[in-house]
Amino acid sequence: MATVAEVMNSTMDTIPTRMRAMRIHRLGPVKAGRPPLEADFVPVPSPGPAHLLVRVHACGVCHTELDEIEGRTPPAALPMTPGHQVIGTVVAQGESCRLGLLNRRVGVAWIHSACGECRWCTSGRENLCPDFHACGRDAAGGYAEYMTVPESFTHLVPDEIGDLEATPLLCAGAVGYRALSLCHLENGQSLGLTGFGASGHLVLQMAQHLYPDSGIFVFARSQAERKFAADLGANWTGDTSERPGTGLDAIIDTTPAWLPVLAAMEALAPGGRLVINAIRKEGGDRDILASLDYDRHLWREKIMTTVANVTRQDVRECLRLAAEIPLRPHVTAYPLEDANQALLELKQGHIRGAKVLRVP
Ligand SMILES: [Zn+2]
Ligand SMILES: [Zn+2]
Repeated sequence: MATVAEVMNSTMDTIPTRMRAMRIHRLGPVKAGRPPLEADFVPVPSPGPAHLLVRVHACGVCHTELDEIEGRTPPAALPMTPGHQVIGTVVAQGESCRLGLLNRRVGVAWIHSACGECRWCTSGRENLCPDFHACGRDAAGGYAEYMTVPESFTHLVPDEIGDLEATPLLCAGAVGYRALSLCHLENGQSLGLTGFGASGHLVLQMAQHLYPDSGIFVFARSQAERKFAADLGANWTGDTSERPGTGLDAIIDTTPAWLPVLAAMEALAPGGRLVINAIRKEGGDRDILASLDYDRHLWREKIMTTVANVTRQDVRECLRLAAEIPLRPHVTAYPLEDANQALLELKQGHIRGAKVLRVP
């Protein structure tokens, strides 16, 4: 493999040979006194022919990193540099790169590559590709000073969105945008949101912009989340088990539990659609599924689907929409070397505002 200095089209004077990276060396529970990542000093990677070398400015911290470290979606190899909400500048490119991205600011999201040839890739559903590679799990991600990525899997970031505030848009924002797209909502139709975390508050603002005449109904267990939703302009808020007076045309569920799924199916209007935006459901309340009732929960052409990963189109449309709204997520910044602290706080549930690593 060529060294960075041998790669064509690089801004070589600014690229060192080694870099800092916070990497996963072993899997296990994230808890106090057991730092999940190690601070390593490793060679700066060389971009392949169709790859870019990106100098990282910022990388968001996501629950999926906890899933990787704790083994629920383990890295393809160890050690692994996590991070899939990356903003940086392209500082070198392989010889077959043609998109003119050198020196441009780009984002990198969960989709690091897909095969481009299977029936899902060729029908706009590359998120379902059997050869889907996730950034920071199957390929080194953004908890580092530099990373490489296929040229065609980067995203230009609108100038009006800053580095730090752009990072949550690349994951919670883009996945939320996909969930909203899968609702197939028309302006004026009602939308429910079950759970109101990182994705929910971004989706609410996207929905208000795209469907200005639609009522938005937020179901959340926590009083603080309901107040946050109301402050952002939700038309109705209530507990998961409460019922608004009307059947809803679509509901997005972002909770880890099963009770909200049944409650949402019951709350749908005839022909309504439930979109579950969760990587997995926890088993704690699975028994509730035994009370699934055909007439209450399913009949009258109710539809249930899920969201898996994101496509490049989701990421790009989310960024464009965020610039237009304008949508500016609240973030808390940590230096790269404090990644362990950020992960521990995330694990402990300090979730208000997205956490972002700032890379000098
Ligand atoms: Zn994520
Ligand atoms: Zn494919």
